[in-house]
Amino acid sequence: MIIVLKANTPAAEIAEVTRHVTEMGYEPRVIQGVERTVIAAVGDELSHQSLEQLRGMSCIENVVPIQKRYKLASRAFHPSGSVVDIAGRKIGGGHFQVIAGPCSMESYEQFRKATADLAACGVTIVRGMAYKPRTSPYDFQGLGEKALEILAAVKKEFGVAVVTEVLGPSQVEPLAGLADMLQIGARNSQNYHLLEVVAKAGKPVLLKRGLAMLVDEWLSAAEYLLVNGCPGVILCERGIRTFEKATRNTLDVGAVAAAKAESHLPVIVDPSHAAGVSKFVLPLAKAGIAVGADGLIIEAHPDPVNALSDAAQQIESAKFGALLEELRPWIKLAGQTMG
Ligand code: PEP
Ligand code: MN
Repeated sequence: MIIVLKANTPAAEIAEVTRHVTEMGYEPRVIQGVERTVIAAVGDELSHQSLEQLRGMSCIENVVPIQKRYKLASRAFHPSGSVVDIAGRKIGGGHFQVIAGPCSMESYEQFRKATADLAACGVTIVRGMAYKPRTSPYDFQGLGEKALEILAAVKKEFGVAVVTEVLGPSQVEPLAGLADMLQIGARNSQNYHLLEVVAKAGKPVLLKRGLAMLVDEWLSAAEYLLVNGCPGVILCERGIRTFEKATRNTLDVGAVAAAKAESHLPVIVDPSHAAGVSKFVLPLAKAGIAVGADGLIIEAHPDPVNALSDAAQQIESAKFGALLEELRPWIKLAGQTMG
């Protein structure tokens, strides 16, 4: 870390700062300029207390961290792209996956029909959400526990892998017993206690980016999962909150490129929650592929108009094959292989 002192800081105060730096386990190297003094604090920023707590000292102008706050998630730790295994389906390192399914499981018939349509066109990882994080408490909250039987039956019939969202620690055990991957949604991606509990469930985790989360914070959230033993983390960009209202959220393709550069973890794009309307799902999916995503997660429903959540953005499941065909050449051009 670099500590920048205010101009003309007296020697006694410089000595006090260096004493704190030493006490916190770093080796201080004082660089004296004509007006200004800078202290380079040498040491591992991950295993020592953060010097940022010195910011409150009146003689300090700025404290600049040099090292990232994540290690296991960084590309420096694992230079090639990592491959995550979801019940035998690979994602990352050139393996591209299209995950699809309804926003929420609404009934046996609805989830079975969606899965049948998707499996028929080659989708092998299905989203099956029992619990829904809804902005309004009056909106459909998911079938909850009742959906687990539906999930088990449909999974068995079609032999698909399933991803399901976990909203709280008490849901982790029952859902991990059934799901092949657990989703941490955008609203929970900085719920560090939940991240720790989910990490220990032994399943790969799909970590959505929060609505106002920096890439750095997203990777630190991934670090929580990895350091707590999570067997595989997939990052998912699903659009962030901006001033723009033409789409539900703003798909941040730059963040996909940045996350891929900074981290070895697979990054996928969710064009459905970014778009908010089905007509923009295809162009945003193409943008995700073009910027280097390792996969997509797309909402598909047998009867979108009557969907109980996110109706406007879901692709009709019977038409999903046509959408996939449009995406295939893009995936090939990006040098990725489906599945
Ligand atoms: C979802 O995947 O249905 C969902 C609620 O997503 P997000 O957390 O990105 O809003
Ligand atoms: Mn949804």
